[in-house]
Amino acid sequence: CGIVGYTGFQDAYDIVINGLRRLEYRGYDSAGIVLENTESIFAVEKTKGKVDDLVSISSQLKGTSKVGMGHTRWATHGVPSDRNSHPHISNNGKLAIVHNGIIENYDTIKTMLIDKGFSFKSETDTEVLVNLIQYFMDVNQSMDFPTAVRSALNEVYGAYAITVMHEDYPGLLVVARLGSPLAIGIGENEFFIASDASPFVEFTKEAIYLEEGHMATISLQDGVDIRTIAGNSKISPEIQQLKL
Ligand code: GLU
Repeated sequence: CGIVGYTGFQDAYDIVINGLRRLEYRGYDSAGIVLENTESIFAVEKTKGKVDDLVSISSQLKGTSKVGMGHTRWATHGVPSDRNSHPHISNNGKLAIVHNGIIENYDTIKTMLIDKGFSFKSETDTEVLVNLIQYFMDVNQSMDFPTAVRSALNEVYGAYAITVMHEDYPGLLVVARLGSPLAIGIGENEFFIASDASPFVEFTKEAIYLEEGHMATISLQDGVDIRTIAGNSKISPEIQQLKL
């Protein structure tokens, strides 16, 4: 299972697809991609099967975007299927998430969200998390997207590496980590996200390994800002020089 994300000047489709191939060794049963187009609208493709199967349904996205993310899934909640594949999209269509790991208390949260009128397309724990983020923004109109991600993460327990995007926040990737690895590649006018450095080592030798309980906002405009999930305390990251 794996995560790849990108914002920069290169074709996001190529970076994400090639990155997912580099992570194939980790094992997976499904693959998916979401790209933000020039109007800041999401294009999503996902399928049970291999990265090659994803490419055969998504090659029209090549050259359409400079921001996006992809996922290879190792099913834990819900069978391997197209519907259960990531990315998952929130009810209002604005949020997209990819997730490796398990949200242990997803069932309780799902019941609460169904009570509030949410509906679900998949059996995954992940779709519950993306709708919980939407819920925080729905009930508090002044809450911004990164704060909603943090608020939602403070309600869940389990293990996760996530990357989240919002259509109203073009060019912004929000990532978080607890119990599953996530690395950020620092290029010149580009940033990479991946489960390990192998998807981006050909483009940059500088990486930040996100630490347990940390989250980050990543954009070309504002760079990388790392905070604790629990307390929102700012972290000065250690930049590693990759020797690969
Ligand atoms: N628990 C999530 C699912 O079953 C993520 C699995 C993974 O780590 O790929 O969809």
